[in-house]
Amino acid sequence: MRMEGKVCIVTGGARGLGRAMVERFAEEGAKVVYACDLNEEGLKELESKYENVKGYKLSVTDRKAIAEFKEKVIAEEGKVDVLVNNAGITRDALIQKMTEEDWDMVIDVNLKGVFNMTQQFGPEMMKAGKGSIINISSVVGIYGNIGQTNYAATKGGVIAMTKTWAKEFARKGAQVRVNAIAPGFIKTPMTKDLPEKVIELVKSKTVLQRMGEAKEIANTALFLASDESSFITGQVISVDGGLVL
Ligand code: NAD
Repeated sequence: MRMEGKVCIVTGGARGLGRAMVERFAEEGAKVVYACDLNEEGLKELESKYENVKGYKLSVTDRKAIAEFKEKVIAEEGKVDVLVNNAGITRDALIQKMTEEDWDMVIDVNLKGVFNMTQQFGPEMMKAGKGSIINISSVVGIYGNIGQTNYAATKGGVIAMTKTWAKEFARKGAQVRVNAIAPGFIKTPMTKDLPEKVIELVKSKTVLQRMGEAKEIANTALFLASDESSFITGQVISVDGGLVL
């Protein structure tokens, strides 16, 4: 029971990677896992499956709602141990064709959303003297990718924020750790519509010759969220089967 007693928050927790993390944390005995998402159906399913999961309808872009959610968590639990900034979207196009709206929307969710959540919960962890923040970046944030100017900018930005916060939240001796996971290509609803040609190309460039499973990301998040990783901070862990460009 690696998460015993821990109060956890996972954004984008209703499906895909977020859902797999919510399930792993719940199975490993978390006191409560708040799954935050816009997808109420997915949240209800999780709540009915796990006693220690609470679904909360929340957009990571809504700063007022996030401030209210923080008050609620602190009133109910008195603390937060783990924050996973996982919610993310794509709006792909070559730069010539990318609209300003595509750019703004992806920045708002993937980059500012991570800032919005961490601005509320990071200081609470620092006050308590401990905590673990996990930001979900991407291989695309390290290597770039055709058609993903907006997405790559956010995922690279998430890595820069991870390193900054690792330093900021550890001031005054606080054991608040901040790390990022950079998944390769993982089977989730986000990647299910990728053309077969792209999937085959990705597999051929991946040392393990396959796409990853959501559980393989969730297991890494579990390690970073648990006390087993107590001396790891400011790191970007690639979980990509050896994908190289
Ligand atoms: P997904 O689309 O399957 O799930 C994303 C979830 O986030 C959905 O439930 C959605 O409702 C939620 N969401 C979207 N906007 C939101 C908002 N404003 N507020 C709250 N929730 C919101 O995607 P996924 O594949 O599970 O990806 C999860 C994260 O992992 C994303 O940040 C993504 O960029 C990253 N990632 C995924 C892969 C992959 O191959 N699947 C690879 C690298 C990185």
